[in-house]
Amino acid sequence: MLGDSHKVVNPFEWGEKGRLFEACLNVAEMRRLPAIAAGGEQRCCARIQFGKAGELVTAVGQVCAVLTVLCQRCLEPLQLDLRPAVHWGIVTSEAAAERLQAELEPVIVTGQRANLAEWVEDELILAMPVVPMHQPAECAVTLTTPAVPDVDHPFAVLKSLVKNKGPSR
Ligand SMILES: [Zn+2]
Repeated sequence: MLGDSHKVVNPFEWGEKGRLFEACLNVAEMRRLPAIAAGGEQRCCARIQFGKAGELVTAVGQVCAVLTVLCQRCLEPLQLDLRPAVHWGIVTSEAAAERLQAELEPVIVTGQRANLAEWVEDELILAMPVVPMHQPAECAVTLTTPAVPDVDHPFAVLKSLVKNKGPSR
């Protein structure tokens, strides 16, 4: 396991040297994920290879994480298994970011330092479902309302809407 000093690196130098970022990161020490997480198991590992494609510094690899969040349907803990792939093109300006090939995700670095733990955290946040929920069979809340109106009674939904709306017309 790498210490904190190895998470803040010069990505351009790492590209030149073809270094490998391999770390197990403490989710509790991250800045935004602890607010989303719901206790329970939180693990995160990253393995990202820095290198160069011509003049461009790239970093390619994978982040693996198990995070526990709250299911937005039943509010019980839900374990998410996230494995976002990383394809970063490291650039110094917006203009350079626009010139990147489509398969690379631009990461703009203006100084000489980048906190790789923060980049990994960004990837995890992007990989999270917008509304995390259990699979229906695993959820404590059983869905009784059909998602689509019953075709035999096309006005059933309308009827319930009218009922909810009350007597005012
Ligand atoms: Zn649930």
